[in-house]
Amino acid sequence: MVMSANLSKKKLMSEITDQITDLKKSPLYEYRTTNKYFPVTGEGSVDAKIVFVGEAPGRNEAKTGKPFCGAAGKVLDKLLEHVKLTRDAIYITNIVKDRPPENRDPTAKEIEIYGPFLDRQIDIIQPEVVVALGRYAMGYIMKKFDLESQLEPIGKAHGKAYSAKTTYGKIDIVTLYHPCMAVYNPNNLPKLKADIEILKKYVKKDK
Ligand code: URA
Repeated sequence: MVMSANLSKKKLMSEITDQITDLKKSPLYEYRTTNKYFPVTGEGSVDAKIVFVGEAPGRNEAKTGKPFCGAAGKVLDKLLEHVKLTRDAIYITNIVKDRPPENRDPTAKEIEIYGPFLDRQIDIIQPEVVVALGRYAMGYIMKKFDLESQLEPIGKAHGKAYSAKTTYGKIDIVTLYHPCMAVYNPNNLPKLKADIEILKKYVKKDK
């Protein structure tokens, strides 16, 4: 039973990848295909208890199709290790699934186009915790879960948890600084490590 549920989740995820691959209406489609980049759907366990949501793929990610595999990914790995989480126990994705040119911020239009794919991924996985990395992910996730009234600048919201309702029950939303904070300035790493400790309570019981 468990096995077949897992297989159908994987099938739904691969349908999402197919649809993003063919997403000609995206303003990022031509940039991806011209550069022979990959869309970055997400990676990890479809049964994960914790889903991490970043902003958008960078160059390394677009070249490999894997989320957080560059400098920010190295920081994320240090943070995961700090709370004894492994990539195969979680699911990592982004709001925007294609690389914006020159790593510019995603536009409202791009978030509008790719957001529904993230919504479907969350519906498929049904996690207990959604971790928003950085202000773009935070803005999208807080709005999606009707927490807009509690939205604060990331400088205040980092390291906080909020309770949200879903069709499958209550979940927690955790807002963290984006790992790139410690790429630009490694002195920020201790702050990021302190914030991610909020996830320790979810790590104890495995799904
Ligand atoms: N930054 C992100 O937000 N996502 C990635 O996948 C890589 C860097």
